Formats: sequence, C-alpha cells, structure tokens
Amino acid sequence: MLKKKEIEPQSNDVIIEKFSNYLKENGKRRTPERFFILDQVLTFPKQFTVDDLKRSMLSSKFLVSQATLYYTVELFVNAGILRRINTGGNAVAYERADNLRHIHLQCIECGRVKLVKDPNFMAYMNARKFAAFTTSYYDLTVYGTCNDCARRLKRKNKTDKKL
Ligand SMILES: [Zn+2]
Repeated sequence: MLKKKEIEPQSNDVIIEKFSNYLKENGKRRTPERFFILDQVLTFPKQFTVDDLKRSMLSSKFLVSQATLYYTVELFVNAGILRRINTGGNAVAYERADNLRHIHLQCIECGRVKLVKDPNFMAYMNARKFAAFTTSYYDLTVYGTCNDCARRLKRKNKTDKKL
C-alpha cells in the first residue's frame, strides 16, 4: 500500500478534472473560457482578487467581463477548488482550498484575514491520522481581534467613559 508522508496540494490535472466533473454533474456548460479562467487561477501562488484575475487575463484572447469572472470564480468555490476569504470591508479574495502553506487569523471585529505560516502546526497535521478517514487537505482559521481593532476599541472605551 502506498503510504503518503505529507498532505500535498492537489495537482492541476486533478483540479481541472474535478471542475470538469462538477460542471457535468450540475448541468453546466464546459466552455473553453471557463477552463482558461481556471488555468489562470491556478497560476496564482497566494490569494488573489477578481481584479488581479482580470489584469492577468488582459493579454489573453478571451474578453471576459468582471461579472463573468465573479460568476466563474464562484463556480470554483462551489466546486471546492477555491475558498473565499473576507479581507475586511467588502473586499473579497480567493485562494486554493487545498493551500496548506498557512493558517488564517480572522478578526471578529473587522473581518480581515491575515495569513501566517506555522510549521509546527503543519507538521502536526501532516502526521495526524484519523480513524476511517483519509485527509485531503485542511483549513485552520483562528478567530480573534486584530491590533487595529484592539486600539480602536480601547479608544472608544475611553471616550465612552468620559461621556
Ligand atoms: Zn480588525
């Protein structure tokens, strides 16, 4: 039996096949444009926004509207290829769902997400075995308060006391 030492990100071929199956199973069209956008998405090493994606497609033969890009990226989210990251305010970024290189710190006040590397946690998760279950990838979000919000809340408390 093949023993996998580390949990690795999925290969691009596996992801493309996953998307193809998703479209088939959900009765959606498998257009060259959708697969081209997926290719572009897979070139981003870290999180990206739809604006980043739009810029990366400027030199391509596909003229895709912002609305189409949003729709297509959401298809990737539904297919389990990407996950949405709230980066504070209305800003939304995306990253690969199987990105194992960092954990997320999310502020419960402003919603911003910071990415941090934690080699100890990764080593722990790579070694962790679950009964009757094979891990493909994992996602850790730690919730708390960012320094900006902590300062803002402190100032607000002071002002409230004065009133
Ligand atoms: Zn915050």
